[in-house]
Amino acid sequence: MTIQVQKTATASGEALDAPMFDPAAYRLTDEQADIIARARQLGQSVFAGRAATYDREATFPTENYKDLHRAGLLGISVPKSLGGLGAGYQTYALAAAEIGRYCGATALTWNMHVCSTLWSGPLADDLDMDDDVRAAHERRRAIHYKRIIDDGAIYSQPFSEGGAAAAGGVAFGTEAKPVEGGWLINGKKIFASLAGHADYYGVLCTEVSEGEKASRRNTLYLAVPAKTEGVSVVGDWDPLGMRGTVSRTLLFKDVFVEEDAALMPRGVYFQAAMRWPHMFLTLSPTYMGLAQAAYDFTLKYLRGEVPGMPPVKRRMYPTKQIAVAQMQIKLEQIKGIWFQAVTEARANPTKEQVLRAYAAQYSVMEGANELAALAIRTCGGQSMLKSLPLERIYRDSRCGSLMLPWTAELCLDRIGREALYEPGETDD
Ligand SMILES: Cc1cc2nc3c(=O)[nH]c(=O)nc-3n(C[C@H](O)[C@H](O)[C@H](O)COP(=O)(O)OP(=O)(O)OC[C@H]3O[C@@H](n4cnc5c(N)ncnc54)[C@H](O)[C@@H]3O)c2cc1C
Repeated sequence: MTIQVQKTATASGEALDAPMFDPAAYRLTDEQADIIARARQLGQSVFAGRAATYDREATFPTENYKDLHRAGLLGISVPKSLGGLGAGYQTYALAAAEIGRYCGATALTWNMHVCSTLWSGPLADDLDMDDDVRAAHERRRAIHYKRIIDDGAIYSQPFSEGGAAAAGGVAFGTEAKPVEGGWLINGKKIFASLAGHADYYGVLCTEVSEGEKASRRNTLYLAVPAKTEGVSVVGDWDPLGMRGTVSRTLLFKDVFVEEDAALMPRGVYFQAAMRWPHMFLTLSPTYMGLAQAAYDFTLKYLRGEVPGMPPVKRRMYPTKQIAVAQMQIKLEQIKGIWFQAVTEARANPTKEQVLRAYAAQYSVMEGANELAALAIRTCGGQSMLKSLPLERIYRDSRCGSLMLPWTAELCLDRIGREALYEPGETDD
């Protein structure tokens, strides 16, 4: 069952926001526009109203996931032939931005879930595999997709370990030892969003046989059923922002998974990281949405249209008008580079496209928080009360530039180095 699309008002009678990326102006197809509208309507009419509670209590948005399932959005990137909406990278990114506009934590966790289908789906389709390996991969991914479509199964993506692996420097310390019929996993993942709430943890780990040295080439992407013996969730979760992500620590102690747990065949994750770099840009849509949310709020606030606020209009002051102009210019700059980057995501991008992807990630992650800060300064003290969404947008948006492997610092690092040096070039 899916929710209706193309409504003009929410159930409470509030007018629906315009799309962030107007389908005509951005040349989207009707099918893309419908999927993105579905996300926007659910975000505005349902998720926005729940976001404060998840944030205050630092609890996982379980109800939102039931709604995402009902709306068909858990399977947004599952092929149509297998019951999904068949959305490619760009469509997913635009839909995720619309969710992020109304609930950052839902959009960020939804990203971890959708990546399990996007990376094993359209990305993997672009990569090299022998025919028999591809056939086995297609059979296996259909098992994962069926769980998502039929049962509403939620997948997470624990990647970070607190060492150099998540930045791409060394092999993941979480290891999978090949055994009869599958693997035995041992290791630890930090900041594992959806910990305790996902049905499957899509663990990035290194396949290491007895006596072998760990290598990034042997990275595996394995879906571990959350209830498997040896899996535990530890530590508390009381962060500054993105509180509904519940990104606690996951421990794996001699956890057995079957061969069908593989979300990608051997060697394919490494190939993807080398040849499909935009796979790491998928954390940015959430923050693109938060940037829009900071701007939307400022307009409504200055026009006296924020529900529950006295109708004091401040828009006549020139300083407010200049601040709004600065915000609009910044937002358009971010949207422009980001839309271009998500549109040109593909296998084997040019150097220019890769540098643009880093620049887009940096612009969104830093820009969203800059816009939120400007929004608070411009709207004033009453706007940052916890009864309004702006202070949450400010805190959530602060987390964007910390997301590995493309933190704001690492994007600067890579742009500078890769612009100045061709592969293999040195100063010797
Ligand atoms: C709300 C939230 C949700 C998250 N959800 C997930 C999730 O679901 N799955 C997941 O895997 N991770 C998740 N993360 C983790 C995130 O991607 C980072 O791994 C984490 O924030 C890194 O924190 P750290 O202190 O270990 O960083 P460190 O590794 O200590 O790095 C600190 C900073 O140093 C810089 N740095 C790191 N390595 C290098 C290097 N080689 N060269 C130069 N500079 C470097 C970076 O700028 C980085 O920001 C989440 C984080 C947050 C805040």
